[in-house]
Amino acid sequence: MPERQRPSDPSDSLESTKRFLKGLGAIEEHMDRVLEPMHGEVQAIFERLDGNCDSIEAARRVLRLMQHLLNRLRLRLECQCQGCARPSSLLCTRTKTTQPWRFYFSHAEGKKVLHGSWDTLPPLKLVDLAGQALSNSQQSPSGQLVAPLENSEHALEALVGIEEQMDRLLEPVRVEIQQALDRLAGKRFSTLDANRRVLRRMQHLLGRLWLEFACHVPGCERPGRLRCNPQRTGAQPWAFKIEHYSPRGKACWHPIGSKDKPGRFPSLQLVRPADEDYRRPRLSNRED
Ligand SMILES: [Zn+2]
Ligand SMILES: [Zn+2]
Repeated sequence: MPERQRPSDPSDSLESTKRFLKGLGAIEEHMDRVLEPMHGEVQAIFERLDGNCDSIEAARRVLRLMQHLLNRLRLRLECQCQGCARPSSLLCTRTKTTQPWRFYFSHAEGKKVLHGSWDTLPPLKLVDLAGQALSNSQQSPSGQLVAPLENSEHALEALVGIEEQMDRLLEPVRVEIQQALDRLAGKRFSTLDANRRVLRRMQHLLGRLWLEFACHVPGCERPGRLRCNPQRTGAQPWAFKIEHYSPRGKACWHPIGSKDKPGRFPSLQLVRPADEDYRRPRLSNRED
């Protein structure tokens, strides 16, 4: 049945926002199914980490990569403080005692709470975002991993291996997302809010795929996030821009899309974000 055209919708407007969002929801369900077998693999590796790092920087690199994988999987760690068990992230903080760093579970409860204090890595148990135990994380995987993870280099290597495995599994999902993006090209939803809602959902999925958009500006081509910003002048009350970092590390925006079709989704190519090399210290000295 043909969809009724709203008077304000020109012929290039899309199917209803609701239906498009439903399609993206189905893609995420597919993603969750594809990633489920990884839960056991990640749990097994986490159980073999022993926190024996050469420095706090090394420990933090391992934790950063762990957290990155947990974010992509939409998982957390269970706080090991007695009687707590909330879904948490693990942090590593410098101390002035003989052990120069300690591990804490961090969870937000209105405000951020740090729980526990371990001088070695506490037990790491995967839970979902609501803190529920995972159904299949108890089963150990087939066991191709033979190297013990006794130091940070081994740990990083094993975690990078996990991410590569995830990327291979997610390849069909990446194709689905690219197809959804191709359907968006040159079109628009009828309100700023609708365009933004779709974009938010899209960026959420891309975050889990660890992908960004390639900037169109000739000579730039940096990976970035797509923004839909209100516009005071021009034919459309909004405009699409790519937000990325300049070579000097500052946030900057490049306009994207064609001038004769303002306010339309541009054609978009997916690329890997500027790679963070977890084996090297981070450039910024921002505390985690
Ligand atoms: Zn806790
Ligand atoms: Zn650019």
